[in-house]
Amino acid sequence: MDGSDSKTEVSHELTDGFHLIIDALKLNGINNVYHVPGIPVTDLGRMMQAEGMRVISFRHESNAGNAAATAGYLTRKPGVCLTVSAPGFLNGLVSLAHATTNCWPMILISGSSEREIVDLQKGDYEEMDQLAVAKPLCKAAYRILHAEDIGVGIARAIRAAVSGRPGGVYLDIPASLLGQVIDAKTGAQSLIKVIDPSPAQIPAPHAVDRALDVLKGARKPLLILGKGAAYAQCDAIVRQFVERTGAPYIAMSMAKGLLPDDHPQYAGAARSLVLKESDCVMLIGARLNWLLGHGQGKQWGERFTKKFIHVDIDPKEMDSNQPISAPLVGDIESTLSLLLARMDQWAPPPTDWTEAVNAKRAANVERMAPRLANNNVPMDFHGALGRLKRVFADHPDAILVNEGANTLDFARSIIDMSRPRKRLDVGTWGVMGIGMGTAIAAAVETGHPIVAVEGDSAFGFSGMEVETICRYGLPVCVVVFNNSGIYRGTDADPTGRDPGTTVFVRESRYDLMMQAFGGEGVTARSPDDLERAVRDAIASGKPTLVNAIIDPEAGTESGRIGNLNPQSAVQRK
Ligand code: ADP
Ligand code: MG
Repeated sequence: MDGSDSKTEVSHELTDGFHLIIDALKLNGINNVYHVPGIPVTDLGRMMQAEGMRVISFRHESNAGNAAATAGYLTRKPGVCLTVSAPGFLNGLVSLAHATTNCWPMILISGSSEREIVDLQKGDYEEMDQLAVAKPLCKAAYRILHAEDIGVGIARAIRAAVSGRPGGVYLDIPASLLGQVIDAKTGAQSLIKVIDPSPAQIPAPHAVDRALDVLKGARKPLLILGKGAAYAQCDAIVRQFVERTGAPYIAMSMAKGLLPDDHPQYAGAARSLVLKESDCVMLIGARLNWLLGHGQGKQWGERFTKKFIHVDIDPKEMDSNQPISAPLVGDIESTLSLLLARMDQWAPPPTDWTEAVNAKRAANVERMAPRLANNNVPMDFHGALGRLKRVFADHPDAILVNEGANTLDFARSIIDMSRPRKRLDVGTWGVMGIGMGTAIAAAVETGHPIVAVEGDSAFGFSGMEVETICRYGLPVCVVVFNNSGIYRGTDADPTGRDPGTTVFVRESRYDLMMQAFGGEGVTARSPDDLERAVRDAIASGKPTLVNAIIDPEAGTESGRIGNLNPQSAVQRK
């Protein structure tokens, strides 16, 4: 049956749960599914493919789930992950929680066992009350028991995922639902095309005036763009607003490229100065969470001396860490448009502020330049990333996927982004293991070349998906920063018995993993080799893994967040 004209179908034909789920998703423009087959959803995946949906089958649900979360972020439609019951469902939960934490729309659809058996705990195949388990980890969770409720169930899941602050939704589909047969016409009529799934949210006029008064009163304003602003996909308005204010801005990692990182107002290279010295900070789709030191502490200067303006779609975010002088609760597009409409006569901030920021930025950029140009063997992070910076400058549409500790921290500040949503990383929790799922979804959803810059440890969490990359022939170049360990490759077991807890097999041949599945595998020992290999990979569009051998001494503990590790005060002999 064809979803597009199903509403006009005559009766006497039948449909079932399988087809209604497919029709409901397609009716709502959801055509891609990230999946691991198995009982009871194997046929559902097959039928989705047969009905023209793009079904990407993974090797592990956590990677399929990360792919779905990424798809949601990139498209503003819920990314869908389809898994089997209990163990597959549990494997999908980390990504569901990750999507929710990042405010990305995602729907985890898992098959489950029969209610009559689960609820009496009679011991069904993979028996688990999945709905109860999922609830605290996502924005909403629903179970569909009857075929005629599939339309409502999917409509609710879509609305919950994308409206207001986006997040993850769990949808439980017991095996018996799939085979339930109903009249095709009744089924078609039960489907819902969700109208205006993420309605505009307009801030009140007095809130807009208040914010403009506070911003106008600032002598040292600072704007902070977060991934909520990138998600909003109103790039021209964000740029216009930033430029109209004339204020320096910094971008949280995934907001990089919303305006090009070489923009004259970009203060990324003067981050310490602007956080400390600013007198008014306007947050646009960024939370004052741990990633910003909760808006207090040494990096922020004296507490309660700054005013905060906060644009966010979620009213509960206001005052979560610091008092907000001007809350602007609304969606970013509507809010910035309203602000702009009243900023015709806007005076730029005092030049002593902008000049101080520019001077600091120029000095830091100059100090960094020689480190980035080194061609040392063994490679250090700066030499390697300096070359990748050049490659990305020549390929502004390439998408950078990035995870690791040092690999993440250094790449974030070294590699400039010049277009929106071209940097995808570990998000709010700092999840290791997002790499291959993210790379695959980015390739599937955008068709752009993908370069995944991966710490060797981070890569290990999802490395088996190189087979998926090869199987679907995706234009993904994985660069493993191989320093032979977690943080560094030099730890030893003090007793001499085993390898140190943070080391790996020295100079592992990750390149052979890609070769094993028919892709290209290359080893790079110098920055020159690395640059050449990545350029070749982008030009060929072939799945490639570049094993970039980095000095095992080069990393630091937990990258730049080593301070989060508790310290033992006890010294045992
Ligand atoms: P970052 O980590 O980049 O700082 P966060 O994930 O902390 O970004 O913050 C993103 C914020 O953006 C969240 O508080 C979320 O509620 C908000 N947000 C998401 N979409 C929109 C939107 N369309 N309009 C306004 N705010 C949004
Ligand atoms: Mg490492």
